[in-house]
Amino acid sequence: MFQKFCFKGKEEGVNLLVFGAVHGNEVAGVIALKRLVKEIEEKKIVINKGSLTVVPVCNIEANRLDVRQIDENLNRVMKFWENPKTYEQKIANELCCLIKDCDILLDLHSTHCKGDEPFVFCDYPKEMNLKLIDVIDVKYVLEGWPDIYAGQDVIEDYSTEKACFGFGKSGTTLECGYHKEEKAWEVAYNAVLNALGVFEIIEKENPKKVSKTHILMKNFVVKNREGCLLKNYKHLDRVKKGEEIARYDDGEVLVAQDDGYILLPNLEAEIGAEWYYFGVEKL
Ligand SMILES: [Zn+2]
Repeated sequence: MFQKFCFKGKEEGVNLLVFGAVHGNEVAGVIALKRLVKEIEEKKIVINKGSLTVVPVCNIEANRLDVRQIDENLNRVMKFWENPKTYEQKIANELCCLIKDCDILLDLHSTHCKGDEPFVFCDYPKEMNLKLIDVIDVKYVLEGWPDIYAGQDVIEDYSTEKACFGFGKSGTTLECGYHKEEKAWEVAYNAVLNALGVFEIIEKENPKKVSKTHILMKNFVVKNREGCLLKNYKHLDRVKKGEEIARYDDGEVLVAQDDGYILLPNLEAEIGAEWYYFGVEKL
């Protein structure tokens, strides 16, 4: 099972939990968290109040094999399983115990293409989440994820954020950028430091707030038969209303329903998987 590190302050305070590598090959968080743990152990960083619990590598086996997952997506099965059947369901049971004990979770992910823009998800805009997101140094916030998954039964969605919400906790997912780029490791490291600062777990000058563009996710498209995206879309690419986005081999064309953004496009999506998401700027 995974390794965890717990550091307790002398005084009561906020209990922060941080995950790395929920997806095994997303290593920006892993690198940042190993550095952080070392600095705390060397007493370069002192935990004063509350506590910090760190799991640098949640999906150990997938991380060892440098793949996203073993049996299934851990970030879609994050709940208690009475009879866990898959490797990820077993890990989810352990991780959910930690989530139940924390006040807020910061879940560090990273992406797969050079130059990817870092961003945060804000699925449940609770006070603590917003306080944390304010001090994370990224330009974009994606909102509305739970709404686009509600009322459909195509894809199960038990994410870490949903688990937090279910247990009455706060939780935020940070996509740090391309995991092989050093700047993504810095995004991850600074986000955790600022989280420790803003919740006064460490003594740190109040981290400054960073202004952001909020994008409201409107829907996602599941690729349900053979077809292709019509451009090499990148996450956060802008599209104009009516722009042709994808075409199925039988001729059906999917167009943008509004001026907005293509989010999380998957050029190699398999049939039955999310192909891309669409969102608009929240004014
Ligand atoms: Zn991920």
